[in-house]
Amino acid sequence: MKVFKFGGASVNNVEKIKNLTSIVKEYDNTPLVIIISAMGKTTNALEKVAEAFYANKKEEALQLFDAVKKQHITTAKYLLVTHFNSCLLQLTDFFTEVEWLLHDKPVRHYDYYYDQIVCSGELMSTCIISHYLNEIKINNDWLDVRDFLRTDNNFRDANIDWNETSNKIQSRINLSSKIYITQGFIGATDDNESTTLGREGSDYTAAIFANILNAESLTIWKDVEGIMNADPKQFPEATLISELSYDEVIEMSYYGAQVIHPKTIKPLQNKGIPLHVKCFSDIFLPGTFIHKKNAKQLPYIIVIKKEQVLFHLTSHDFSFVGEQPMSRLYELFAQLNIKPNLIQTGAINVQICFDDNPGKIEQLAIAASNIFDVQIEKGLQLLTIRHYTDSILYELMIGKEMVLQQQTKETVQILFR
Ligand code: ASP
Ligand code: MG
Repeated sequence: MKVFKFGGASVNNVEKIKNLTSIVKEYDNTPLVIIISAMGKTTNALEKVAEAFYANKKEEALQLFDAVKKQHITTAKYLLVTHFNSCLLQLTDFFTEVEWLLHDKPVRHYDYYYDQIVCSGELMSTCIISHYLNEIKINNDWLDVRDFLRTDNNFRDANIDWNETSNKIQSRINLSSKIYITQGFIGATDDNESTTLGREGSDYTAAIFANILNAESLTIWKDVEGIMNADPKQFPEATLISELSYDEVIEMSYYGAQVIHPKTIKPLQNKGIPLHVKCFSDIFLPGTFIHKKNAKQLPYIIVIKKEQVLFHLTSHDFSFVGEQPMSRLYELFAQLNIKPNLIQTGAINVQICFDDNPGKIEQLAIAASNIFDVQIEKGLQLLTIRHYTDSILYELMIGKEMVLQQQTKETVQILFR
């Protein structure tokens, strides 16, 4: 069996949903588990609902949610005739779940409410798509992934309970020639509270299913040709990389390439399951194939992270930066759940670069000032080039002022103004 994953951009209107079904038809003899994200920008819209609710703006939250509801009902109306009523009935259950909550007053942590509200995006999209498949006589089973994907209660970044999840998936999904439709990105705790796995987490869900079901492959259908060696929006000359190893992809996403969710590779690598990244608008394009073997010749791969902050930390009294201050610093990173993108240490100073997350950066600055003198520089960019050559490095740095540089045989990173 194969696992497919369709992201928000591949189901954001009626035409795209029809296109999804034409892809599914191409594979009509293969058992499929299909993981789907919320339609288009639904997750962003639902985030706004959660924010309004938590700011005690109940009416605004209800209005914003109403817009999301209407959009889904309209899509369902376009797609469905005989199955419209049963779809609407199921959608109404999801609407009611959220609306009940919106009538309450927030008393728990924001992240809890976020997950209870935002999870409805994937429930609604899969409900409509599953009914549409039935409408055009492609039988399928719709599953509420929250009955299978067990997580802890670390809301908005929940961790999978692999044992429970494996048991539940294996006992429910039989690998005959069936199509299952379910949601990416969401799960539930033992107490049936909804959780989410972090933005863009549907890729990870797909990898979890592929791992547990020993799938022959996972295909992520995207609105691009495959994985490119740079972001084509910034570098029009970017080219497709046709083959990559698991290692390379994990490195790329570690350095910030927004190719696939960083947690996706491990479950696949552990079982040797290949990953195809393919273009949903032209299924005959080759896409990118990711597997165990190292590709022979890789092009340089460029990743640029904007909005970087550099911390210049200097010891208070000219003492060396030893293990103790450094381990206290790492404790702070863990407490604040903040990940350094680059660290360079000297005798009495440390320089560390982070994504500019305003709340956390301030907290870190205050806490670090107990250990060091702290100076902060904002508005920097971090360039990473894998498999660099001197000429591409030179070319990309023209007109830029280097602040920090770190280099290994394979990778160069430059923080610049
Ligand atoms: N719908 C979620 C998001 O937009 C999850 C996903 O698309 O993977 O982040
Ligand atoms: Mg998405």
